[in-house]
Amino acid sequence: MPEMPLVVWISLAGVLGLVVGSFLNVVILRLPERMAAGWRREARDILELEVDSAPLPPGIVREPSHCPQCKHPLSAADNIPLLGWLLLGGRCRYCKAPISIQYPLVELLSGVLSAVIVWKFGPSWSALAGLALTWTLIALSGIDFRTQLLPDQLTFPLLWLGLLLSLLPMFVDTRSAIIGAAVGYLSLWSVYWVFKLLTGKDGMGFGDFKLLAALGAWMGPVSLLPMILLSSLIGALIGGSLIVLRRHQRELPMPFGPFIAAAGWVWFVAGHELLQGYMQMTGLR
Ligand SMILES: [Zn+2]
Repeated sequence: MPEMPLVVWISLAGVLGLVVGSFLNVVILRLPERMAAGWRREARDILELEVDSAPLPPGIVREPSHCPQCKHPLSAADNIPLLGWLLLGGRCRYCKAPISIQYPLVELLSGVLSAVIVWKFGPSWSALAGLALTWTLIALSGIDFRTQLLPDQLTFPLLWLGLLLSLLPMFVDTRSAIIGAAVGYLSLWSVYWVFKLLTGKDGMGFGDFKLLAALGAWMGPVSLLPMILLSSLIGALIGGSLIVLRRHQRELPMPFGPFIAAAGWVWFVAGHELLQGYMQMTGLR
């Protein structure tokens, strides 16, 4: 790596994060559409119905961005992360339809979290891996918020990458990664079945188990309990305030994936510090 002050690396990571964030927006919108269309085709095939002639929704990389309302293609300036949205005042240049706040929020989140990763790990291979983790978690959270899905296309590569990195090892050794992945999956899987046998309801989706398995592969089994506790805490805080603000009905399913992702990311960046702080607070040390 060339010699540059850390602050330059952090700024570069922030800018890169903004740019990747606008790509993540596209993934969040289009990946579930593509998946749904694929399922429709498979279902028709299994039921031996006529082949669906509707074209597949746009691919993730191929199609240029356009306004969802008036379909006008966006100019390069409108596509600048964060600034484009701010300069337009959150409205389409052509039809003045409001543009979802999701776009600048995802870009901002991606920029800030990417900068934090490089601040924490410095310009290193660990930081690069941390960026891959961060961006995948943002995409998963966005998709889960919108559609209550955590696609295998994202959770599985995260799991494989976590297992492979343990061969170096980068964050945990291979033994911890394997146990972390298995225990991560099986812990939520058991909770799911106990809950289902007691109440007859689905409390979580299988995507949640796979996401926790992936995080277990990255951070080992010791991280799992704090991550579950942390995600429940974040979920209770956000879910509770949404219900109080009447933005969310109690009966609707609340996606759990974003809270697991948030807890996993916090533990990835600051787990060691949180654990030490906790031990000092409780006098364990
Ligand atoms: Zn428009």
